[in-house]
Amino acid sequence: MSEMNPPENMNSNGYEVPPEMRNNIAITTLDKIWNMGRRYSVWPMMFGLACCAIEMICTAASRYDLARFGMEVMRPSPRQADLMIVSGTVTKKMIPQIVRLYNQMPEPKYVLAMGACASGGGPFKEGYNVVSGVDKYVPVDVYVPGCPPTPQALLHGLMKLQEKIDSESIRTVRWYQPGGEEPIPVPILGPDIIDPRDFPKFKSVKAAPAKAETAAESAEAA
Ligand code: SF4
Repeated sequence: MSEMNPPENMNSNGYEVPPEMRNNIAITTLDKIWNMGRRYSVWPMMFGLACCAIEMICTAASRYDLARFGMEVMRPSPRQADLMIVSGTVTKKMIPQIVRLYNQMPEPKYVLAMGACASGGGPFKEGYNVVSGVDKYVPVDVYVPGCPPTPQALLHGLMKLQEKIDSESIRTVRWYQPGGEEPIPVPILGPDIIDPRDFPKFKSVKAAPAKAETAAESAEAA
């Protein structure tokens, strides 16, 4: 027996188990049970934004088989999904809808930014109509690089998400703290995109002083 093995009267968690009960009971933690239930039943929301969505669709098809992760049930409703895969270019026109959908998802919920566009703007970064990364508006848990990422890369990202879920504790995740989590204010699309969280900054900007009348304009008015 290796030195790392627990004594015979203890299980692997260090709890003492009477001999007659050995092999009949399992002792674990609430966090482990809770995390196991979630890691094997992450249901992605079914929506795509651009070319990366094609790779996401391939990942869900028979060749790659998302079902082995318990993730094959892509939901067309945010109310029944707990993973938002942002697959494609995030335009300013779409970000209000993305934030609204995120707010409608039940907790616990996760976001995976798939591809260069969703992660940081990609080839369109700082384009007049493109958001430089969806993480400017919603919290991203996993970034999958690539343009586009392959289905294998997306699967790797999903496994990273499972690892993240494994490390969570029901006592510390942000959703179950006193007061819960506030919904994210939905951006407003006007001539440009406006984030309502920036309103305090706007208020602090002093109005520019009115243009002083020139001597010529004063004389003309007189
Ligand atoms: S990262 Fe590349 S493949 Fe993906 S949406 Fe952007 S341009 Fe298309």
